[in-house]
Amino acid sequence: MLKILVCVKQVPDVDQMRMDPETGNLIRAGVPAILNPLDANALSAAVSVKEEYGGEITLITMGPPNAEAVLRECLAVGADRAVLVTDRAFGNADTLATSYSIVSAAKQVDNFDLIFCGKETLDGATGQMGPQLAERFDAAQVTSASLIREIDEANGTLVVERELESGIETLRVKMPCLFTMEKTNYPVRIPTLKGKMAAKKAAITTFTADDIPGLDRNRIGDPGSPTKVPRMFPPVMPEPGQIIDEGSVEGSVAKLLTLIKE
Ligand code: FAD
Repeated sequence: MLKILVCVKQVPDVDQMRMDPETGNLIRAGVPAILNPLDANALSAAVSVKEEYGGEITLITMGPPNAEAVLRECLAVGADRAVLVTDRAFGNADTLATSYSIVSAAKQVDNFDLIFCGKETLDGATGQMGPQLAERFDAAQVTSASLIREIDEANGTLVVERELESGIETLRVKMPCLFTMEKTNYPVRIPTLKGKMAAKKAAITTFTADDIPGLDRNRIGDPGSPTKVPRMFPPVMPEPGQIIDEGSVEGSVAKLLTLIKE
C-alpha cells in the first residue's frame, strides 16, 4: 500500500495583512488563518493518486496549536490521518530548522513512498522547504510536478510530468519521491458534509519536541536557525505613471511629444 505524506501549512490570509511601517513587523492580529493555497493543490493530487492506486494519506504540519484547523479541513477532503508538530521549542524556526523538525516527526510515523508539498507558501514563500525535505527524506524530488502518470509499486518507480515554461517534461523516478506542486491537472477537492463531520471527530497525533526520540535541540527553533532577518520594510512604490489617451494614436503621440518637450 502506498504511504503518502502531504505537508500543509497554515498561513495568514496575506491579502488582509499589513506591515507596521514604524517597526517593520507584520500586523497579524485579526488576520484570518487559511490553508496555504498551493498545499490544497498538493492535497488534491494526493487524493486523486490514492483513488487511482490505493494508499493512505497522512497530513503533517508544523505550527501553533490552532494549525489543527487546517488539518481538519484537509481530513475532510480525503486524508486519513493527521500529525501536528507543535511546541514553543519549535518557534522562531527558519526553513532549515523547520524541515529538520518535520522530517524528524514524520519518521516517527511511517516510511513514506510519496511526499506532496506546495511549491511555496503565501507568507514565507521561500520555496526552500520541498527541496530540503526531499534531501532529509533521502527522496527523489520533482519540482513543479503537474501530473503523476503511472505508479509501478512493485518496482518502486513512477512516471511524472513537470510543467515548465518551455513545455511538459516527463520523468521516470524512483520512490520515495517528493513533489512540489503549483498548477496541477487535478480537480480541486471540496469537503463534503460527511467528510466535515468525520474530520471534526478525528484524532490528531501531536508531537512536541519531547515526543521525538533523539531530536537534537540545537537543530530546532531559534538555536537551529542560522537565517537572521535584520529588518523588514514595505517596498517604496514608484510614482504611478501617466496614461496618455487622447482618443486617437495621432492625438496621443502629439500630447506625448508636447510633454517630452516640456
Ligand atoms: P516554502 O518553502 O515556501 O513552502 C513550500 C511547501 O513546504 C509548502 O507549500 C508546504 O507544503 C511545505 N511547508 C512549509 N512550511 C510548512 C510547515 N510549517 N508545516 C508543514 N509543511 C510546510 N514562522 C512561524 O510560523 N513562526 C516563527 O516564529 C517563525 N520564525 C522565523 C524566523 C526566521 C529567522 C525565519 C527566516 C523564518 C521564520 N518563520 C517563522 C517562518 C518559517 O521558518 C517558515 O514559514 C517555514 O520554514 C517554511 O518556509 P516557507 O513558508 O518559506 O515555506
